[in-house]
Amino acid sequence: MSQEHMTALRCVHCGQRHPVDAVAYTCPHCGIEGILDVEYDYNEVAGTLTREALAARPLNQWRYEELLPLDARAERPALHVGMTPVYESPALARDVGLERLVLKDEGRNPTGSFKDRSSALAVMKAREAGRDTVACASAGNAAASLAGFAAVMGVRSVIFVPQRTPEPKLAQLLVTGARVLRVEGSYDDAYWLCQAACERYGWYNRNCAINPYLVEGKKTAGLELAEQLGARMTDWVAVSVGDGCTLAGIWKGLKEMKRLGLIERLPRMMGVQAAGAAPVAAAMETGALKPMEARTLADSIAVGWPRNWRKAVDAVRESGGCFVSVEDAEMLAAQGQLARRTGVFAEPAAAAALAGLVRAVREKRVDPAESATVVVTGHGLKDVRTAMQALEAPLDVAPRVEAMEALLARIG
Ligand SMILES: *Cc1c(COP(=O)(O)O)cnc(C)c1O
Repeated sequence: MSQEHMTALRCVHCGQRHPVDAVAYTCPHCGIEGILDVEYDYNEVAGTLTREALAARPLNQWRYEELLPLDARAERPALHVGMTPVYESPALARDVGLERLVLKDEGRNPTGSFKDRSSALAVMKAREAGRDTVACASAGNAAASLAGFAAVMGVRSVIFVPQRTPEPKLAQLLVTGARVLRVEGSYDDAYWLCQAACERYGWYNRNCAINPYLVEGKKTAGLELAEQLGARMTDWVAVSVGDGCTLAGIWKGLKEMKRLGLIERLPRMMGVQAAGAAPVAAAMETGALKPMEARTLADSIAVGWPRNWRKAVDAVRESGGCFVSVEDAEMLAAQGQLARRTGVFAEPAAAAALAGLVRAVREKRVDPAESATVVVTGHGLKDVRTAMQALEAPLDVAPRVEAMEALLARIG
């Protein structure tokens, strides 16, 4: 039973350890700054989570049950999550000017983003806590994901979205029957309103940053990457950063696999932010967070007041990595480059990770002899209007062979 492998919840701010059942979300001494991190008994975990055991387990994120904060007997949602493919792309590596480049395609998760890893956990934790309603504030992906997993588990979902959520993500929400509150404001406004609602109505809060268990779902991408690449682990892993939970989660997963002796070498983490919403990158320099107004077309990382910045900064620092900030135009260029070289369509926030890598190579922060993994965190169909901005219109043609021939002859 995996629950028993958990030993404590450690506050990332003051370092104090709390018993697993003693606190719900954040450290009682540090309040909102006191994000908690789940700790496990790794000696015990190592007894059963072995290479041989893994070989016989299902190809989804539940294969790491010893490292998840759940009762192994609890009912799991009937949607496939995790074990997303990794692709070697020599063509993209050449384009970027690197020795080797690997993609991990998270757009292949059931609702099309990385967020499915934590939403699956959120719904199970809500059930465990005896709640019939889960809520979250999200720019779109976490919401769509929570709504999907709530639907399959028969739990009610209430979703707070900011004004500018792209239409495809809204459709994804509404189609599941989720109750959707569109907040006249930013993501940060939606976040606070959701928080207030959860306190008032006793709903289960899916917001990853303050909920220590959910980031454990995100870490499964790191566990997988370690298993999938093994001795061929890349020198770098590039991840886009909004709140910071994704990057911190992946780093935790990678570290756990090293600790368990399942990989030998850890990569350096590259956190990529939109230049118009880069408070985490700034906090890496100054050691303190200065919230800002987020301005970027990459809605999934348009976070002006990140909750998990400390975990993300710690992860980048510990790994010897760096932060890179990219302009919106660089993301759109990377979106096209990625699709042309690999066939993978990424939403702007996901393409940001590639854009950051491109910039880091250009600025000689990454050596051409090195290798890198780009985590493609969300699918391009989630925000078609933005993608279209950077694309040419299709070639209009009358339904006649002569017209087609004339057109093709003209454009060559
Ligand atoms: C949420 C999200 C991110 C960033 O994750 P954080 O945990 O907020 O840092 C990146 N890309 C996509 C597509 C996302 O949905």
